[in-house]
Amino acid sequence: MHFYDRLRETLEGLRRGACLRALPSTPKGLVNLSSNDYLGLLEDEALRESFYAQLHGEARLLSAASSRLLTGSTEEARLLETELARAYGTEAALVFGSGYHANTGILQAVAGPKTLVLADKLIHASMIDGIRLAGCDYVRFRHNDLGHARVLLERRAADYDEVMLMTESVFSMDGDRTDLKALTALKADFPNLLLYLDEAHGVGVFGPNGLGCAEAEGVLGDIDILVGTLGKALSSTGAYVVCRADLRDILVNRMRPFIFTTALPPVNLAWTRFVLAALPAMAARRERLQSMGRRLADAVRAKGVPCASASQIVPWTVGPNDAAVAAAAAFRSAGFYVLPIRPPTVPEGTARLRFSLTAALTEADFGRLLEVLEAQ
Ligand code: PMP
Repeated sequence: MHFYDRLRETLEGLRRGACLRALPSTPKGLVNLSSNDYLGLLEDEALRESFYAQLHGEARLLSAASSRLLTGSTEEARLLETELARAYGTEAALVFGSGYHANTGILQAVAGPKTLVLADKLIHASMIDGIRLAGCDYVRFRHNDLGHARVLLERRAADYDEVMLMTESVFSMDGDRTDLKALTALKADFPNLLLYLDEAHGVGVFGPNGLGCAEAEGVLGDIDILVGTLGKALSSTGAYVVCRADLRDILVNRMRPFIFTTALPPVNLAWTRFVLAALPAMAARRERLQSMGRRLADAVRAKGVPCASASQIVPWTVGPNDAAVAAAAAFRSAGFYVLPIRPPTVPEGTARLRFSLTAALTEADFGRLLEVLEAQ
């Protein structure tokens, strides 16, 4: 078939299945419930202005103009890594261009010929791509079923040098959380087990200092590779890993999405440092966000729809793709911008609306949201 005919046919198939994606423009005049700006920092003009007011010197630069191994290891990058390692109490930290870079590159850099990956069934696409690129053996455990992970470890762990268990602290589509105490307890029984935890949706939102769920649960010392992203609650861009110094050195030498890309601009790194320093004082925002999450999840359950959310991400699963599209349109006409999430992002038959709450939401808007949901 002709190249462009095939592309058009694929698009037509997506359209028929109500799965065709288009790039939506940013909503104007609607309450945004689809961003990952969980702490509402993007809308915090005072915070932003106080950042600009103290910005000087190299931190004002808008580009790093080269990769980290050339001239991109700017003072801001080094300072941010030092501050991240200090905050987490780890030996080292390394910053990346994005969470996608981090998750596609870390595993390939550290995996050996006898590494087994044990991954939660619902981990983010970036980690799945990372597993594919690493090319090592892997096996999936049922979503959030650490009992199943244990069975697989009992069966397979002894055949490998190490097992890398990859999961998320807060799952991006269901808003449910991993039992990190149970997860880290597995290490006592499997000495060759390493833990890779993606805290993309936990950072900023959980923990006394906003460092994520591992901080909240007091298990930071048991996580070998903790990945946090900076483009969500921290309202910046990029990602980081906190880990041992030798692991960081391997990444600097071997991780392709770290080596072969331009470093983040100093101005972004400076903003990340600014927000990171302010995070511990944002406990009130975190508490309010979590309380809204609980109330919204209860409202979904009150409609008779199961909801596993234990965070600021609350899905309302409606099932068919067209039902999700229609529900999103109803919320839109009520003034709320919430997007339908459809396969392949979520499993077939579980299309949903995904409410992504933010601390910037007013009590009045939140109350109205509950009313609209109830009326659906
Ligand atoms: N991990 C998870 C769990 C995510 O949800 C995302 C982004 N949606 C990423 C990683 C990728 O992060 P980034 O947007 O910084 O590339």
